[in-house]
Amino acid sequence: MSARIDEILAAARRHTDEVIKPEVAAWNTGTAWPRAASDKAAELGLTGLYAPEEWGGQGLPLSEGIRVYEELGKGDGAYAFALSMHNICTFAACGFGTDAFKEAWARDLTSGRKLANFALTEPQSGSDAANMHSRATINTDGTWTISGAKAWVSLAGEADIYFTVVKTSDQPGHKDMAMIAIPADAAGLSFGPRYETPSYSFLPLSEMYLDNVIVSEDNIILPPGKGLQGSLMAIDIARVSIASGCCGLMEAALDTALSYAKNRKMFGGVNLDLDGIQWMLGDVATDLEASRLLYRKAAEALGTPEGPLMAAHAKRFVPDCAVKAANTCTQVLGGMGLLQPYGLDRLSRLAQMLRIVDGTTEISRVVIGRALQKRARDLPDLPVPKGFGEA
Ligand SMILES: Cc1cc2nc3c(=O)[nH]c(=O)nc-3n(C[C@H](O)[C@H](O)[C@H](O)COP(=O)(O)OP(=O)(O)OC[C@H]3O[C@@H](n4cnc5c(N)ncnc54)[C@H](O)[C@@H]3O)c2cc1C
Repeated sequence: MSARIDEILAAARRHTDEVIKPEVAAWNTGTAWPRAASDKAAELGLTGLYAPEEWGGQGLPLSEGIRVYEELGKGDGAYAFALSMHNICTFAACGFGTDAFKEAWARDLTSGRKLANFALTEPQSGSDAANMHSRATINTDGTWTISGAKAWVSLAGEADIYFTVVKTSDQPGHKDMAMIAIPADAAGLSFGPRYETPSYSFLPLSEMYLDNVIVSEDNIILPPGKGLQGSLMAIDIARVSIASGCCGLMEAALDTALSYAKNRKMFGGVNLDLDGIQWMLGDVATDLEASRLLYRKAAEALGTPEGPLMAAHAKRFVPDCAVKAANTCTQVLGGMGLLQPYGLDRLSRLAQMLRIVDGTTEISRVVIGRALQKRARDLPDLPVPKGFGEA
């Protein structure tokens, strides 16, 4: 571990304690993204985690920087998620962007003066990402014209630039996909009505419409043919980041339950004296330890051939544990667990949201299942008794 990560984690912890925890209830009474808070996160270096220092970033390896979301997730999982997506876009910009794009945007993104988000999902294609309709076509002067609709765009209308995945031909499949950075003020870009979410209402979410938007070729982050592969790499980082944020959420739920159960008097003692309560919270603590080990191992695997499978294991396992943790901790408080001041209901809703975003639990199972089929092919054949192998 580098010395820098210790400082960054301490800064993230302070940001959670001093900004997110005291303010998140107020954020959720409105619909505005807390830009003043994300500006403070930016001042602490939390918006350029993996970007090289030459572009103003922290230069952290993914395996270290991803731990920041565990700290932020103790405050709020949706806020942590939005900053993680900004950091992934910033990483892509500095790693794959053209020189002209980096000159124009890299320092603004790493410093958090400008925010970025990723637009892959479309109304007809979530899990089935290859069923994409948005199209970019090259013009004779080298610029690109883009038309289509994206769905579930986070930081919609708040981000300054959208890293958008598009098709570039009529060919079915994903071989022609590209990633193009589209500035928020590009002519022809607009947003649909805000989605109404039951929690995390401060995170703007809506559809994004592209009506003959023209951008310079400088804005091609991943050229045709590299778009889906690069997006999947981005999504692997996002999946591990979500698992990291979920660990923070689990710790917040556990601490809330412990803080209450140690004082709630019953049966001549307190709630936490009951074996059944200790076992329930003990299971949450075990799941938290296992989740932490898993996401950190997955973070180390990013960028290696094991990265996608490890990211799928982390995204499959950890958000499920977070849902269970939030619900168990609510149960431990009895009726009080449902009341506002304890915030456990918010954690349940956030954990469920984190099971869906950036690839659902089921899609992680699909990735794991395919890896198992591959592994089976390399194993020796076991004989199947006569009659059992026939259709
Ligand atoms: C809060 C939030 C923020 C988001 N932000 C962004 C963003 O910024 N950018 C962006 O591009 N996207 C974003 N998304 C979209 C998100 O990534 C998708 O919601 C997700 O990929 C699932 O797609 P879907 O909602 O269309 O579900 P669908 O694909 O319609 O899936 C419906 C159900 O079918 C299941 N399913 C699908 N395939 C299989 C299978 N093969 N086997 C078994 N079950 C299957 C799914 O698991 C799910 O339970 C966001 C979503 C949320 C909830």
